[in-house]
Amino acid sequence: MKKRYNIALVAHDHCKADLADWVAFNRDRLKKHHLICTGTTGRIIEQELNKDLEENDRDYHRVLRLKSGPLGGDQQLGALIAEGKIDMMFFFWDPMSQQPHDVDVKALLRIGVLYNIPTACCRSTADFIIASSLFEDDSYQPQKADFNNYITRTIE
Ligand code: PGA
Repeated sequence: MKKRYNIALVAHDHCKADLADWVAFNRDRLKKHHLICTGTTGRIIEQELNKDLEENDRDYHRVLRLKSGPLGGDQQLGALIAEGKIDMMFFFWDPMSQQPHDVDVKALLRIGVLYNIPTACCRSTADFIIASSLFEDDSYQPQKADFNNYITRTIE
C-alpha cells in the first residue's frame, strides 16, 4: 500500500473556485490521501471530490474539516504542522484582499517553512508538486530541521 499523505488544503474566498477546479482535475490522485482543510474550504472540496455520490456511498471521500480560517482554522493547521502531522500544504491565499486573520495567514506560512513542508501558494506550484515523481515516491523523506541548538541555547 502506498503511503497516504496528510495533505492540507486551504483557499481564501476569491481563490476557492480555483482550488476547487484544481481538486476536480486531480480528484483521483487526491482521493488516495487524507485531506485536512479549513472549514469552508473543506466543505467545497468535499463536494468537489464527491460529485454524483451520496454520503453513504462506499466511495464517498471525507475530508477533515478544521474551524474556518478566520475562526482559528489556520492556527489549528499550524499546530498540526508543528506536531509533524501534515506532509504538504496547498494554500491558495489571496494576494489582492485584506484578510481579518492576516497574522494567522503569516503564521501558517511561517510554520510551513520552519518545518520544511512542501507548500504551494498558487496553482502552477500546485501542479508541479502533484505532478512530481517525488509525490508518488514513498521513500522520499523531506529533511527535518534540527532545532536542538535553539532548544538548548543558553539564556543569559
Ligand atoms: P475557510 O478558511 O476555508 O474556512 O474559508 C480559509 C482561510 O481563510 O484560511
